[in-house]
Amino acid sequence: MNKRLIAVLSIISLTLPVELANSANLTEKDKKYAQVPYLAWNEIINYKIASSNKVKVQVHASKNFDEKVKQLFIKGAQSSVDQFSGVFKPNDTIHVILATNYDDAVKLVNEVKLLLPGYESFTQRHLLVARDIFTGVVPRPSFGGGTSSRNCQYKGGPWGDTGGSQITPCPELDGGVIHWFDANPESKYQIAEGTGSHEVMHIVFSKMNKMNHYRVPEWIIEGTMHSIGLATVTKKDKLTEKPSIFNPAPKWIPMENEKSFDLSKLDNTNSDERFSIGTLAISLLISEVGAKKLFDFMSVVGFPRQWKDVFLESFGFSAEDFYKKFSDYHSWYFYENGFEVIQGTNYLGSAKKKTTITCITGKTTKKFTGTNPKCPAGYKKK
Ligand SMILES: [Zn+2]
Repeated sequence: MNKRLIAVLSIISLTLPVELANSANLTEKDKKYAQVPYLAWNEIINYKIASSNKVKVQVHASKNFDEKVKQLFIKGAQSSVDQFSGVFKPNDTIHVILATNYDDAVKLVNEVKLLLPGYESFTQRHLLVARDIFTGVVPRPSFGGGTSSRNCQYKGGPWGDTGGSQITPCPELDGGVIHWFDANPESKYQIAEGTGSHEVMHIVFSKMNKMNHYRVPEWIIEGTMHSIGLATVTKKDKLTEKPSIFNPAPKWIPMENEKSFDLSKLDNTNSDERFSIGTLAISLLISEVGAKKLFDFMSVVGFPRQWKDVFLESFGFSAEDFYKKFSDYHSWYFYENGFEVIQGTNYLGSAKKKTTITCITGKTTKKFTGTNPKCPAGYKKK
């Protein structure tokens, strides 16, 4: 066995839930699927595009932007910049704009425009996002108002490859710009670090391939950024606390309750499920193929080939086959208490005991099994 393989094996054996695999409380499916976030997390935190570049992070913030939230956001951003510094040029700067009101957003965007050649092409989109957020036109109950210089609103559309013609790429920037527009950032401190990483990852992927943001569905884009952002903040000693790749979106509900989920429905939409479902889907994908293959896919996908052709070539199975795999995983996660199985495992993987309860509504009786099973809305515990 060569040294490299030994090194890889020792990383895996340290972090895989070994005891989970032997737990008598779990079904074979539980054992297989409960490992998905562990496998994805390991892959993400150990995949690097390294270089000796020391990319700078420069902050432009409203005076009243919460200091704690600011530092967490910068921490997440810097962490991803360092992990993937190889996609940047040696003197690149990531500008971080943190605004609590629209006037500051305009002022800070203009400030960066003077410092960063080419940024002008992106400012219209960023100020539209700022206006939507600060005037409440677009309700954002779950998210901070993060955005990035990954897309300058050129023709082509960001909702996946519709097979159209070549589109004009956005100008190349020396580094990039990420933003958080939020009137009350202090209320979002739990997601600040992950959001900083998420927004930098948009820049990282855009640097690898200008076209990937236009050529694959949003569930792949946001699922990838969100998985990496959550993996960045996932800590060994509190795996299942928020925010974490082990706790990606418990409050987000599946689109069609009690029905198997059709991921292909997200191929041409920008619904919020692109974050929650996208994170689950990309974690599953990474757990099967590894992080490198996903990064490689994102670096080659583009015009004139369709993303599904590149998907098949990159991963060895078709998008349609992946929709089927995901439907099974999704059913387990939401309807067979998979989320609770994941939540019930600790770092060493011992699983909590599961119990079964009976819930009734009218004449319908259903059983639910989990580490802490609850009856769904409308049902009463028998
Ligand atoms: Zn995003």
